[in-house]
Amino acid sequence: DARDISPEARPEDARDKALRPLSFAEFVGQPAAIANLKVFVEAASRREEALDHVLLSGPPGLGKTTLAQIVARELGVNFRATSGPVIAKAGDLAAILTNLEPRDVLFIDEIHRLAPAVEEILYPAMEDYCLDLVIGEGPSARTVRIDLPPFTLVGATTRAGLLATPLRDRFGVPVRLEFYDTDELAGIVARAGGKLGLSMSEDGAREIARRARGTPRVASRLLRRVRDFVEADGKNAIDATSADLALKRLEVDEIGLDSLDRRYLNALTGHFSGGPVGLDTLAAALAEARDALEDVVEPFLIQQGFIQRTPRGRIAAARAWTHLGLDVPASQQG
Ligand code: ADP
Repeated sequence: DARDISPEARPEDARDKALRPLSFAEFVGQPAAIANLKVFVEAASRREEALDHVLLSGPPGLGKTTLAQIVARELGVNFRATSGPVIAKAGDLAAILTNLEPRDVLFIDEIHRLAPAVEEILYPAMEDYCLDLVIGEGPSARTVRIDLPPFTLVGATTRAGLLATPLRDRFGVPVRLEFYDTDELAGIVARAGGKLGLSMSEDGAREIARRARGTPRVASRLLRRVRDFVEADGKNAIDATSADLALKRLEVDEIGLDSLDRRYLNALTGHFSGGPVGLDTLAAALAEARDALEDVVEPFLIQQGFIQRTPRGRIAAARAWTHLGLDVPASQQG
């Protein structure tokens, strides 16, 4: 889709590899998560044991993959990555697990999308480092138990709530990532600018940070777009004015909402009179995928106090009306 600042990963983001922080020390933000992980990583290293399994949850683009890589690096072990929808059969996962070296980190992105049959063989693997494989079919079928090296599963999910309880319970270290504040994002933008060899003022970095939807992936994508605009104008420095101009052209408003965010709020306040309206109805009205709205669009709108999720559906909060320049209906006041 044409959504310029979607926090979902895109192939072009591969160019960001050079910008990825490689250690806890380089990782900006998420102080609670980092403090927690550091303690467990140090303890595991001291005992020369595999780190407990880690579940990273939070909206896309907040640094789950990055943190998983850092954990492996800090442990001094290999990093193997796959994702829930990619592992089609139990045998695929068995092949990955039996190839691990002791204490390796296995990263499974979108772990809430594992097939049930695959999830089942993951349980004994996580709990006892073993696999129970069925060999043969019919009456001659038998189960063989294969021992695995001790390993660390790092699972990532945008929806911890969708994880089956037995799976969630097997993660010793649950870590929730939160949206970043402007200071943290400004630090990330400044560092990325430096690595890209850009000349950028502090208020230029802040202008981009302020409008990055609390999300590092969006911040680095906006930085690249702003650079394109500034270069096209024959300039070589990014300051607040040139950043603002570029962001306006990208239809990113002054608090970082993009066109899809505004379409969402316009539909909710206009078509549905502020709700409550069910997500499926809203998705149909916007011609967008329900999952994308729930995983990508709504978390930031909720965090910013624009909308609320209620058992009866989505409701526009007072801030949604005022941001769109509308009068807050009497029913929403007080
Ligand atoms: P997720 O796995 O949660 O979708 P990623 O780990 O892929 O997110 O991060 C998205 C992008 O943002 C990557 O390019 C990464 O380098 C960058 N990034 C994420 N968190 C940080 C951070 N704390 N500091 C600097 N860059 C970050």
